[in-house]
Amino acid sequence: MGFISSFRTRPRSTSLAAILVITVALAGVLTYEAWDAARSQRATAERALRDYASFAAWEFSVAAKEYLYSTLVLIFSPISTDEPLMAGEQLKQPGVLSRLMTAEYRCPDFPAYYFRVDLPSRHLVVEGKAPPMTLQRWIRDTVLTDVAHLYKRDMIYSSVSGNVDGEPCSIVYQVKWRSDNTPAAAYGFRLCMSSFATPAFGKAMSKARLLPATLTGDAPNDSILSVVVTDGMGHPLWRSPRQFPGEYKSESRLPYFGGLVSTVAINPQFANRLVIGGLPQSRLPLLLGVLALTVALATLGVLQLRREDELARLRSDFITSVSHELRTPLSQLRMFAETLLLGRVRSDDERHRSLEIIDQEARRLSHLVENILQFSRAERHAVKLCPIEGPLAPQLRDAIEVFSPIALARQVRITTRFDDALRAPTDASALRQMVLNLLDNAVKYGPSGQEILVTLSSAGRAVRITVDDQGPGIPADAKERIWEPFQRLDRDANSAVAGSGIGLSVVRELAVLHGGRAWFEPIEGGSRFVIELPLATVAAA
Ligand code: ADP
Repeated sequence: MGFISSFRTRPRSTSLAAILVITVALAGVLTYEAWDAARSQRATAERALRDYASFAAWEFSVAAKEYLYSTLVLIFSPISTDEPLMAGEQLKQPGVLSRLMTAEYRCPDFPAYYFRVDLPSRHLVVEGKAPPMTLQRWIRDTVLTDVAHLYKRDMIYSSVSGNVDGEPCSIVYQVKWRSDNTPAAAYGFRLCMSSFATPAFGKAMSKARLLPATLTGDAPNDSILSVVVTDGMGHPLWRSPRQFPGEYKSESRLPYFGGLVSTVAINPQFANRLVIGGLPQSRLPLLLGVLALTVALATLGVLQLRREDELARLRSDFITSVSHELRTPLSQLRMFAETLLLGRVRSDDERHRSLEIIDQEARRLSHLVENILQFSRAERHAVKLCPIEGPLAPQLRDAIEVFSPIALARQVRITTRFDDALRAPTDASALRQMVLNLLDNAVKYGPSGQEILVTLSSAGRAVRITVDDQGPGIPADAKERIWEPFQRLDRDANSAVAGSGIGLSVVRELAVLHGGRAWFEPIEGGSRFVIELPLATVAAA
């Protein structure tokens, strides 16, 4: 069985809830915009860093090329000053070409050879230890293609890299021209890029300025960036001594190194110095925190609104039910008073009965009014108790005595089991009101003819008063909420049993003000309501 919890939407709270929802939506939009702005700022800064990396890669390739160039020019210049060759002429001057073969530029495991491609006849001649046929074919075809498409008349040499049988291979060659400006032959040798270019890369890294000094100050290259050079197949050929993670990196081909690729990565710790104003930090956690807080506050606001609405509804129900509760005894009072006044009673017994009913309804009325007053005082926090130490049993008997006409009217028998010796500091009228409220509920919700048991016993440093009835009991899920103001079980709210939903809240309030507590316990075939009050006076009272 549940409580009356239907939520009648009121225009004010609906519009407030809508405002809160719009506030959250706006906070969401603002958070998104701020996050997006921070993200694009960061993306711009990162792009700038990658641009620096590609700028440095370009500078690196230019510097390395200069070292490479100066070396190869030394090798090829003597050839270029030779007499032009005639078509079909044999490879000659091994004395000059043997420079190409110096150990410095050859890998130890390369066969020692140099080649000549006779361009008109497309014929390859190899001098020295001949390489495998596939390699020879590759050299010839590569040179022919390169001369046809890339080699320019004013070039001193050209270098080409490729893969032969899955192995990287680089060659470097020079074209000899005839007097009629047609290419006669290409002379060259296989270059061991790793051993040949390594000194060039090393020098470029240590000597060249790869980024503008205005940005880097005097910091050495290897504290700002790292470089890896790979061949066409991705095998690393050379790497700078310090390596940095590839967060801000750029990859570019080294144009003068036959298709080698350099990857330059900026040191992330240096990134803040390179970007003006520093690298923007992610503000996502902060923004999400603010958004979550806004959502939490708005949710709290909506919940509060719902509570207020619920309370307003309960208050209005309360007024209706209180009016109803007042009307019933009042009409009884009027009816029996009129009967007596008009002398409509037929016997003394009837007169007595009428007076009994008047008395009983007047008690009920004053009890109800007392409850309402008590409740309103509690709402204003204006309850004042005057606890006086004394025996409890006589006070309980008084309360039961006051209540007996009402019990009698429903043929309810009240039995008591009291420990007469028990004393405690209590406010007499508050105690009476608590007991009367519990007795009233027991009679109201229990069957007529039932037996109500009231006990008084000690429980450690407290006294316990219980009221047991033989009524329908309280569902487990409602045993706490019945103590809240205006709360009634559905079955009773929709029944003819009059009630305002404040009786138990008054009981608990008064028990707590005594420094005690009040609760419900299910018992076999009924309910038990317990009030526990401390044996010693408490400051709260
Ligand atoms: P009221 O009796 O005026 O409705 P209370 O605060 O005294 O308000 O009780 C709250 C609700 O708890 C009652 O409406 C009723 O549904 C339930 N209740 C209280 N006492 C009993 C009882 N002895 N047996 C069954 N239900 C009870």
